[in-house]
Amino acid sequence: MPKVALHWQIILGLLLGVLVGLAVNITWDAGTWRSMGVDDPGRWLAGVDAADVPEGIDLDQIPASDRAEKFPNAQAGPAAKGARFLRDLNDFVGSLFLRGLRFIAVPIVLFSLIVGASSLNDLSKLSRIGGKTIAIYIFTTAVAITVGLLLANVIQPGRFVSEETRDGLVSTYAIEAEGKIQAAQAPDVWETVLNIIPTNPFEALAAGNMLQVVFAALLVGVCLTLIKKEKAAPVINFFDAMTDVVIKIVNLVLLLAPYAVFALIASKIADLGLDVLKALAVYSLVVVGGLAVMIFAVYPIGFRVLGGVGYKRFYKAISPAQLLAFSSASSSATLPVTMECCEERLGVKEEVSSFVLPIGATINMDGTALYQGVATVFIAQLYGIDLSIGDQLTIVLTATLASIGTAGVPGVGMIMLVIVLQSVGLPLEGIAVILGVDRILDMCRTVCNVTGDAMVCTLVASSENAIETEEQVEARLRAMRAGGLDEHPLEEDELDQAAG
Ligand code: ASP
Repeated sequence: MPKVALHWQIILGLLLGVLVGLAVNITWDAGTWRSMGVDDPGRWLAGVDAADVPEGIDLDQIPASDRAEKFPNAQAGPAAKGARFLRDLNDFVGSLFLRGLRFIAVPIVLFSLIVGASSLNDLSKLSRIGGKTIAIYIFTTAVAITVGLLLANVIQPGRFVSEETRDGLVSTYAIEAEGKIQAAQAPDVWETVLNIIPTNPFEALAAGNMLQVVFAALLVGVCLTLIKKEKAAPVINFFDAMTDVVIKIVNLVLLLAPYAVFALIASKIADLGLDVLKALAVYSLVVVGGLAVMIFAVYPIGFRVLGGVGYKRFYKAISPAQLLAFSSASSSATLPVTMECCEERLGVKEEVSSFVLPIGATINMDGTALYQGVATVFIAQLYGIDLSIGDQLTIVLTATLASIGTAGVPGVGMIMLVIVLQSVGLPLEGIAVILGVDRILDMCRTVCNVTGDAMVCTLVASSENAIETEEQVEARLRAMRAGGLDEHPLEEDELDQAAG
């Protein structure tokens, strides 16, 4: 049987996950549970077993409502147990995969950034690449918010939601929204900058504070270039080898990807369904449309103007990272795969990718910024509040800062949205309205975040002549195959192609 390339396996997992999730969402309801003897599905799925029924009590004699209250789930049979087992198994596979990726996230940023910074062995090169990287990151983020604001002002998604729908959504999601509002802290500029510097770098590593880890790694990397070469060499070699070790672990974790993608998507879609999506269809479409404009128009224009690789080659190479970004909704978790795609499949030199990508996964969130722009205007429209040009400029500024401060994990973009709303004095309960669709939009915006990181990495690499041509990539992969080194799961399709 021919071997199917990993990214096709992932796509298959994704599609099957959507189908199964939808089927479960549509067909499975409280009645289905009741027919299996489960009166309280919440308790049952939380693993609380059926209540014991004292001897002498005949459940069939008790009215259903009393029975559900006194002896919940007492009649749950093997079918209910089977359903619960399948769901637990599904959750297990998804969590196992995400844990595997999270396991690598901090070490890969640390090791690869130290190697990246120390390999740019003179400070002028480091500041040149660093300057370019940060400038393009901030520029693309500002463009993203502007695209979001333009679309939201022109299409006015707020017009499509009635007041009743709005109030209904506010009351349904009020408690959850309150949690997000509490979690958001208005940033104080001085404090934000101070917070980048860890008081204890080991604590930063243990807590997974990415911005602090980036800072510490850059500092160690730069200082390695400032001490005696013979002293620095073994340390750099050590971190270099550790980076390879981590990439090896990524390859192992990725073997689980197709199943995990299925599991993650199926359970999300089964829980969420498409109902809320319907109420907020226009808003969701504006966000997704804006993200598509970034991915299919703005980035390609960037490639055209600033040079770099062909559009098709770029997307083919990074598709596994995009698929994982979609299913995990986390740019941090996707980072190891983004690095693998850029280095192995696009041929970007490690000295650039190991520097540009970890920083990007931490601070560059084009998709999140765009979403924050659309969401802010949408909420203003829902509450009939006009936003002046000055307000919109404030949004560009705060959303740029908020997206930089957004951690690359699921759902944080929405917490940071609270800060943007506050900056222009909009009602915070507005986030309750959009909460129901947030996860799906989170998945989409993470794809844009990761694509933006990879595109900036490619641009910087091209400008530094640190990227292979397509032929070189193919030749390298062919040589690896000939040498029996084809252990990278992501390379299979390239290898197949190279082999004709
Ligand atoms: N989930 C996004 C990411 O990891 C961040 C967000 O917008 O919530 O890139």
